[in-house]
Amino acid sequence: MKSKLVEKKRLSEDYWWFELEFIKEFNFKAGQYVSVKVNEAGKRRAYSIASVPGGKKIGLLVNVSPGGVGSKFFENLKVGEEIEVLGPLGRFVVKTGSTFDGFHLGGVRVGTQPPSEEKSLIFVGTGSGIAPLKSMIEDVLPNRVNDRSVYLVWGMRYEKDLFWQKEFEELERKYKNFKFILTLSKPSVSWQGRRGRVTDVLKEMKILKGAEFYLCGSSVMVEDCQKILVGKGVNEEKIHFEKYG
Ligand SMILES: Cc1cc2nc3c(=O)[nH]c(=O)nc-3n(C[C@H](O)[C@H](O)[C@H](O)COP(=O)(O)OP(=O)(O)OC[C@H]3O[C@@H](n4cnc5c(N)ncnc54)[C@H](O)[C@@H]3O)c2cc1C
Repeated sequence: MKSKLVEKKRLSEDYWWFELEFIKEFNFKAGQYVSVKVNEAGKRRAYSIASVPGGKKIGLLVNVSPGGVGSKFFENLKVGEEIEVLGPLGRFVVKTGSTFDGFHLGGVRVGTQPPSEEKSLIFVGTGSGIAPLKSMIEDVLPNRVNDRSVYLVWGMRYEKDLFWQKEFEELERKYKNFKFILTLSKPSVSWQGRRGRVTDVLKEMKILKGAEFYLCGSSVMVEDCQKILVGKGVNEEKIHFEKYG
């Protein structure tokens, strides 16, 4: 499908935001990705959709630090240029719908249970692995899961990498069932926040039986998280993941 670049914005040193517009509505499920044609020879690279479903536009988060043909394509792209994408692709989507067992009265939800820790949704991402998680979280919080606790554990290396912190903190204020945990593996001495890897957070977390996990990042990160979770007794069926290579 053909699309047009309508916005290009630098979020931090290596991370960029790109907004693509299609001629008609682009239907996808939060968590899916598109395959982008990144050179004339037809080479393709996969990019998760970081925006929420609905409308003609999609947003992509691109880390250009790998420096290969995909990174170069996006770095050189100019607003107004055409981009060829294939998609939506992938099955990394939130499996469970709402467990809301109340009813609506005059548009107000009645009878909602307090957020359940037992049925938590736990999203864990590193680097650009945050892209599909942002889409999934922004999709589930208002629409589907106000009776479940939702956690986001996001790992980055340095302060200079950071972006979207304010957005997630805002969501935390808005949704009482949402908790955002940011951790840096190589922060400066003045960093006031959490230090360490996402795996350290998982090791510390009290994990209840019904929790479901969505992991996204490098293969190494995903596999390390899987080992910890399985070691803590989490059923493999409850661990969903997308590996970026
Ligand atoms: C399903 C899926 C979804 C993806 N979604 C995104 C996304 O939303 N945003 C995004 O930025 N990337 C995403 N990726 C990764 C993306 O497809 C490319 O692999 C990445 O942009 C590097 O491509 P490149 O051509 O620049 O580098 P390549 O020429 O492919 O690789 C150059 C070097 O960088 C290494 N490398 C590859 N990827 C990474 C990485 N992510 N971090 C560090 N080093 C790397 C390679 O091992 C190689 O040594 C996704 C991958 C998959 C499989």
